[in-house]
Amino acid sequence: MILPWQQDQWQNMMQRIASNKMAHAVIYTGPEGVGKTNFAHAFVHRLFCKQPVNNQACGCCDACHLLKINHHPDLKLIAPAEGKQIINIDQIRELIEYQNLTPHSAPKKVAIIEHAEMLNINASNSLLKTLEEPPASSMLILITHYPDRLLPTIRSRCQRVEFTSPNFQQALTWLMPQVNNDESLASSLLALANNAPLKALTYAENNMIDQRNNFFKSLQALNQGKLNPVTVAASWLKQDFDIMHYCMTSWIIDMIRLKASSEPPMLANPDLKQALRKMSESIGLRGLLNYYETLNKTVEWKRSNINAQMVLEDILIQWVRISRHRNDVIT
Ligand SMILES: [Zn+2]
Repeated sequence: MILPWQQDQWQNMMQRIASNKMAHAVIYTGPEGVGKTNFAHAFVHRLFCKQPVNNQACGCCDACHLLKINHHPDLKLIAPAEGKQIINIDQIRELIEYQNLTPHSAPKKVAIIEHAEMLNINASNSLLKTLEEPPASSMLILITHYPDRLLPTIRSRCQRVEFTSPNFQQALTWLMPQVNNDESLASSLLALANNAPLKALTYAENNMIDQRNNFFKSLQALNQGKLNPVTVAASWLKQDFDIMHYCMTSWIIDMIRLKASSEPPMLANPDLKQALRKMSESIGLRGLLNYYETLNKTVEWKRSNINAQMVLEDILIQWVRISRHRNDVIT
């Protein structure tokens, strides 16, 4: 099933199936959490289905069944290996071999490459060769939030399909039933997820708002001198680093927005507006911008396996330093 905000892209793809003008390769782009992967799978279901109903897969034929159990011989999924940040040449060689086979029962042999921006240079060059001379019955779907990181020569050989976030009301209508119709929770999740509904849903499943509130309380306690950075780092370390980092970054960006305008049109944490405004009173804009840079750098430190406790302590010590000194305040 496609998502309600993907109708235009769906109609376009259906017209291409009807007129037999499907591109050999397409790139699905757009922000994280708007449903690109979901759409790719819905498209493959429709393409492979033996008896589609109203331009949707029937859900009960052989092809639909094999896709449902991830066992269809004409669909191949490629993504970075668990914990890795690259797609390597061996994966692409395997893909090329697969694409040269005749489809088993589907009209085309389809491969979906997720996080296509993680193709390394050798893999990209190898993929490029197959894009230049694609096997007749093959179709490649590349999915990425960062199309600019793909080789321009790859981009130019693919049809591009753009996905965007729905408007707030549409996102809210979709999300509400999945969070027990809690409108306030759904609104907070969407704000934090920059209106990307699937991202907001993942946040709901991870109790993101509770986790964020707990992180925020300890940050407030740190500001008030009730806790010290070492203790807070030790407690945060038991939680998910990425979520903590995301929350911290979203607070800093919101504080920068609040410095720039008394009524900023958008905040990632509208429910924390007053508390963030109060917290930012003693900090200068320059301090916040520098701190934002520091937070960005810590993602790299974390990737290079520097001791996480030390990384967190460093983040928090620097926070205490900027939030308790007014010497960099500029207005
Ligand atoms: Zn079917």
